[in-house]
Amino acid sequence: MTTDAMNFSIVERLRSTGRLDRVFIDGEWVLPQGQDRASVIDPSIEESVAEIALGTAQDVNAAVAAARRAFATWSVSSVQSRALLLDRVHSLILERAEPFAQAISQEMGAAIGFARSTQVPVAAEHIRVARDNLASYPFVTRRGDMAIMREAIGVCGLITPWNWPLYQITAKVGPALAAGCTVVLKPSELSPLSALLFAEVVHDAGIPPGVFNLVSGNGPEVGAALSAHPDVDMISITGSTRAGVLVAQAAAPTVKRVAQELGGKSPNLFLPDADLSRAVPAGVAAAFRNVGQSCSAPTRMIVPRERLQEVERIALEAASSMVVGDPSSPQTTHGPVANRAQFNRVQEMIGIGIAEGARLICGGPGRPEAFHRGYYCRPTIFSAVQPQMQIAQEEIFGPVLAVIPYDSVDEAVEIANGTVYGLGAHVQGQDLGVARAVAARIRSGQVHINYPAWNPQAPFGGYKRSGNGREYGIEGLEEYLETKAILGFQDTENPSTTVQSSRI
Ligand code: NAD
Repeated sequence: MTTDAMNFSIVERLRSTGRLDRVFIDGEWVLPQGQDRASVIDPSIEESVAEIALGTAQDVNAAVAAARRAFATWSVSSVQSRALLLDRVHSLILERAEPFAQAISQEMGAAIGFARSTQVPVAAEHIRVARDNLASYPFVTRRGDMAIMREAIGVCGLITPWNWPLYQITAKVGPALAAGCTVVLKPSELSPLSALLFAEVVHDAGIPPGVFNLVSGNGPEVGAALSAHPDVDMISITGSTRAGVLVAQAAAPTVKRVAQELGGKSPNLFLPDADLSRAVPAGVAAAFRNVGQSCSAPTRMIVPRERLQEVERIALEAASSMVVGDPSSPQTTHGPVANRAQFNRVQEMIGIGIAEGARLICGGPGRPEAFHRGYYCRPTIFSAVQPQMQIAQEEIFGPVLAVIPYDSVDEAVEIANGTVYGLGAHVQGQDLGVARAVAARIRSGQVHINYPAWNPQAPFGGYKRSGNGREYGIEGLEEYLETKAILGFQDTENPSTTVQSSRI
């Protein structure tokens, strides 16, 4: 490992040179072992805007070793000291919100207004929530003659995607550090800039060396090395089901814990009494939020057949209000999709929907008029979609909504549950008793009734092939904890004073 010029601003370095040839290991920005570099492509212009160094398996070894050394002290540090450091991380993200928003907009095409109003603040929320839950979490409880201890699981490998780049990082790093774990982060090679800024925040907040490490790189090299590493105790991936399976396979021989936050094809079930004037525009907005690149985007609108025409009319109106354009303009609501592979995938699936005979309400293949470059897609709504069509079964991860008619509520529930996924779900209806009963029948990790506000304390994760484990809230913290039972306590003994741990 070569080190030089350790103290420099990532923001400044990127701004002045467009290059960052370092990874972050043991509290220092170091040159990686290999020579490989990757371009960061701005999807609105299809041009490189920065170049980053790609790490190697050797860098993973160095990062894991640093995390292991740091674990000895971080895991027994006091709750108060960890909470204070997380507070600082939270404040620094908010202080640097503008560079974060600019980086996210450039690396994955988010409209700058959306990056400012949503991508960055909700990412900061995960750190705040982790800090709050840490402060009140009962790490030691008493049951009969036992003390039940919850302890940090160890060194964690964290692998994140490009769609909500900072948010997916904080959803893992916040609770992992709160729990007393040390981490090696491998962000998406397609959206590494906000991750590098985050590493700088962690450093500036005073998190001790080795507690947080970042190795940029490709999935098959750096991600696979992390997943298979014998000294990593847990791996948490957010990404496609394909990558989640590969990570679990690589992790299996070392029997490490594997948390997977994977794909989705979330239903939005409209009961016969749903208020369409509210439910449809909000449903279209939710499906197209972040240009449809959200794992829990409600991309299947399941509606009573007798109300189909009304739904189509309102949905068309709602889609027309979207402003697709240059992500750096504050007027833009929707930028391009994040990369060429995603653009090709969206185009292919729109073609498949047409070939399958679904009714095109708006959008369709190709870029919107007036765009000759950039990965811009037309917001596309298909109606009269059959539940077994490919566009109703497969995750598209772009601005494509399928409206599926049903004849009875039982059939609607069957359609809602009729994919291999089970991540998010929505139910719309004015009779709350019925809506709640239907919500209880849906097999997915979250069900939202009538679009409640986002709640970062609500556990989030998948049934079926959407994943294993939960993020956010108390459950998100508990993902990073082991359980230990110590037996042999007398009735009067208080385990908190008996069990040796500076955490208590
Ligand atoms: P991806 O699977 O291509 O990549 C995700 C991460 O996994 C990246 O960091 C990538 O480098 C890494 N990776 C790829 N192959 C790997 C391997 N063999 N070993 C180890 N790591 C590997 O996904 P993406 O295209 O970045 O993101 C889109 C996908 O993520 C969608 O399917 C979406 O539904 C899913 N997603 C899920 C959630 C959730 O919380 N459930 C949230 C956001 C995105």
